[in-house]
Amino acid sequence: MTFDLHGRTRRLELTDQDLRSFEAVVLEATPDGIVLDRSAFYPGGGGQPPDHGVLLWQGVETRIEGVRKGDDLYLIPAADDPIPPAGTVVRAAVADERRSALMRTHSGLHVLCGVVFRDYGALVTGGNMEPMTARMDFNLPEVPPGFKEAVEEACNAEIAADRRIDVRVLPRAEAFAIPDIIRTATNLVPEGIPEVRIVDIVGLDTQADGGTHVASTKQIGRIKVAKIESKGRGFRRLRIAIAD
Ligand SMILES: [Zn+2]
Repeated sequence: MTFDLHGRTRRLELTDQDLRSFEAVVLEATPDGIVLDRSAFYPGGGGQPPDHGVLLWQGVETRIEGVRKGDDLYLIPAADDPIPPAGTVVRAAVADERRSALMRTHSGLHVLCGVVFRDYGALVTGGNMEPMTARMDFNLPEVPPGFKEAVEEACNAEIAADRRIDVRVLPRAEAFAIPDIIRTATNLVPEGIPEVRIVDIVGLDTQADGGTHVASTKQIGRIKVAKIESKGRGFRRLRIAIAD
C-alpha cells in the first residue's frame, strides 16, 4: 500500500495539488458511484469536503457532485446524468473555483492552528470547512483578554511573511520523529500506512495531512477571526472567514 493509492484509484491530487484536468479509464460504474484508475478529485477528509467537477466522454458530460470513500473511491454522478460504462476513457475536470477556495481555506486553518499552538500551546480537537469559511476547535481552558484580535493579527502576519507551504512524503518512523507532528489531540494517521504525507508551513506549522494546500501563505488572502464560542469545559471553537 502506498500513501497515494485508494483501492484501485491512484490519487493524483496528493502529489499535484494544481492539477485540474486529467484522463482516466473507468473501472466500474453504477448510478451510486464511478471508479477510475486515476483521479485528482479530492475525496474529502481532514475537514476538507470533496471536489466537484465533470467527466467528458463520447460527446456527453457526467457531472460529479461528490466522492464516497469505500474500498474504492466512488465519484458520485448527478442524478439522471449518463454514466460512462467500464472501459471508457474519460477526460475529467475538477471544478477550479471551489477547489481553489478550499485550498486557501485549508491552508488558512493550518496557519490558525500553527499560531494558536505556538502562542497558546493549544491542541486541535476538531474542525470543518466550506469554501472560504471554517471552524476549528481547540483545547484551550483560558481565553486571555484580546485573544480574538491577537490571533487574527498573528495569522495575518504569517500570511504577509509569505511562508512556503511544502508537501513531502516520509517513511512513517521518520515522520513521527518530527516534534509535534501530530497536532490534533488524537493520532489520526491510520495504522499500517507505511508512508506519511507531511504539509509544512515552513517555520510555522508541520502536520501529517492529506489535504490540498496553496503553495505559500500569501495565496490564502486574509484571515478574519469571526467568532469564538465556548464548547464546554476547556474547549473553544474559532470561526474564521477567508477574504481576498
Ligand atoms: Zn489539514
